[in-house]
Amino acid sequence: MKLVAAIDVGGTSIKGALVDPDLHIIATANAPTPQNDVDGSKTVKVISELLSKLASPGEIKAVGLAVPGALDETNGISRWSGNLGWKNLPIRDLLAREIKIPVAFGHDVRTGALAELRNGAAKGLNNAIFIPIGTGIAAALIIDGQIRSSNGFAGEIGHVNVGGEFNCVCGKKGCLEAAASALSITNAYAQASGKTGTSSEEIATLSQNGDAIAQKIWENAMASIATACQMLITVLAPEVIIFGGGLSQSGNLLIDPIAKSLGESLTFQKVPQLVIAHYGAQAGTIGCAMLALDLLPNGGN
Ligand SMILES: [Zn+2]
Repeated sequence: MKLVAAIDVGGTSIKGALVDPDLHIIATANAPTPQNDVDGSKTVKVISELLSKLASPGEIKAVGLAVPGALDETNGISRWSGNLGWKNLPIRDLLAREIKIPVAFGHDVRTGALAELRNGAAKGLNNAIFIPIGTGIAAALIIDGQIRSSNGFAGEIGHVNVGGEFNCVCGKKGCLEAAASALSITNAYAQASGKTGTSSEEIATLSQNGDAIAQKIWENAMASIATACQMLITVLAPEVIIFGGGLSQSGNLLIDPIAKSLGESLTFQKVPQLVIAHYGAQAGTIGCAMLALDLLPNGGN
């Protein structure tokens, strides 16, 4: 059996997964992301070590590498990533040279959309939006069956102004991400309640169980997401909006208030289905593995 590895480089950790040709995750391994690694040299070493934890030498036939920020996907270049400190870094080829295994390259959000488009909640659809909500928020826009990249700059829905009260990492105030990312929800709850370390999933449950502080923060976050969805629906008319990332683990506690809010705000627009990603918080990993399998003859089978 031909195995591939999916490697997702985030701002704080690098997540690795060993995946078989049927898209089953066989093993996982994580490591902290090297900080201020402007030439990528430490990052490729860490990835190489992760691969040797995941499988024996020679077992992994291809690697799918996903990174955040603005990318040149065709040429394997990270144009800019604020979290990673990268600028015009040819990270795909640097990694391929280090590990001597073919490397496929993608964006951390659009790989998730690829998984949902090929085999998940957007399968068979032409127009869909995938919104993973984790530390940050971005959207992958599936338009006429294609995932829109626009040189890596499309889909940054986390930085539209939804009229919020919080400051954002981008330097502006009122962004969606500052109100509704898993990190923002956790931070807002800690600030208001004095209790640190409560996950967004726990806050959703607390909200359902009548915790007044959790209710206010969760409702505000869901209203902000609904405002952003209203814009996306009005402009792009998707058939489905798919929620992924850590926040999607809250299931109907996420979907129901957004659906209710959209029901009140939409008038003439066609109302899309709102669903949780088929691959849940793993969509990015599966999409990454798909890109790696694409490099192998017969998709690794
Ligand atoms: Zn912002």
